Amino acid sequence: MRVVLVGPPGAGKGTQAQFIASNLSIPKISTGDIFRANVSGGTELGKLAKTYMDRGDLVPDEVTIAMVRDRLSEDDAQDGFLLDGFPRNVPQAEILKKMLAEWNTGLDIVLELVVDDDEVVRRLAGRRTCSQCGRIWHVEFDDKLDDVCDACGGRLFQRDDDREETIRHRLEVYQEQTAPLIAFYADERILAGVDATGPVEEITQRAMEHLRPFID
Ligand SMILES: [Zn+2]
Repeated sequence: MRVVLVGPPGAGKGTQAQFIASNLSIPKISTGDIFRANVSGGTELGKLAKTYMDRGDLVPDEVTIAMVRDRLSEDDAQDGFLLDGFPRNVPQAEILKKMLAEWNTGLDIVLELVVDDDEVVRRLAGRRTCSQCGRIWHVEFDDKLDDVCDACGGRLFQRDDDREETIRHRLEVYQEQTAPLIAFYADERILAGVDATGPVEEITQRAMEHLRPFID
């Protein structure tokens, strides 16, 4: 099975990617993992990507695509994969489609984790990080009334990334970039929305319902 997983920050995409891939016994392929593997493996593409990252620039599409192509060519991805973080835009989606067509295959389904903005803000803006041990607590889910770490006694603080205005901005950027991608896959008739609220296991189950028709 060939699956793409998309979802906004705070939707629990990384966790779901892991659970779904392990349920299906297919590799979870994230662009983050691919970058790290290429950079630490010292591949030509890794060296090239590193020159951009060291300057704080975005790695160009063609470098990312070449890395994805290499990764999807590996043995463990021949019977399927779950892509997390790629494609990020319509041009990448078109290239992926072409790449898979060259291999006489294609995506089976694109799962979109759906969670509304206020819920994402509630999840992320409630996080407090320990200044000593780095552990993350949640004001609501951990019932945290003080600003002291129960593990080490360190002071808790709110990271800039977890501030409401930062989160809302990231969500806006995400919507702007992803809406065309979602429309592309809706046109291809392979898009399925997954309600990403509630317990983690329930979200995985909802995702699996959409995948069942493809499991033989
Ligand atoms: Zn601590």
